[in-house]
Amino acid sequence: MEVRLYRPIKRGELIKLEDDRSIVLFRQIMLRKYVLKLDKEKCVGCGICADMCPKWAITYYPAKFDGIKRVSERPRIDFESDKCVLCGTCVTICPMRAITLTLNDEEWIPVMKNNVFYTVAVKALEKRYIEEEGEGTSL
Ligand code: SF4
Ligand code: SF4
Repeated sequence: MEVRLYRPIKRGELIKLEDDRSIVLFRQIMLRKYVLKLDKEKCVGCGICADMCPKWAITYYPAKFDGIKRVSERPRIDFESDKCVLCGTCVTICPMRAITLTLNDEEWIPVMKNNVFYTVAVKALEKRYIEEEGEGTSL
């Protein structure tokens, strides 16, 4: 994906780029280049990543149907670059390995590196459960 941005980038800003095959969130700080990438061809639209994102930075769009059984639009996800903190939870949870996160082209997954994946994932699920079921409930 070759892209030219015709505007100044704010320091630390997470830039979102998209084409037919991928969605990329990109951040450059000095010599550190962070890239979160969704491969649309690998994504099956299961939505697990959207449920597990601790920052609610992934929006899930269910399939659309044309008539009773014909799918007119596949299910898909999208990222909100202003919410994503590049934690890597979505990378870890995706069953299709459709999302990658790299730092200077090397795999880099903070929630695994810092050994907090399960804590982050359970908190994300709790938050979603409470949102859907109301306060006073617990998993
Ligand atoms: S978990 Fe993976 S396959 Fe499922 S919607 Fe997210 S990116 Fe797509
Ligand atoms: S990297 Fe973390 S915050 Fe960003 S979309 Fe994935 S799970 Fe959400």
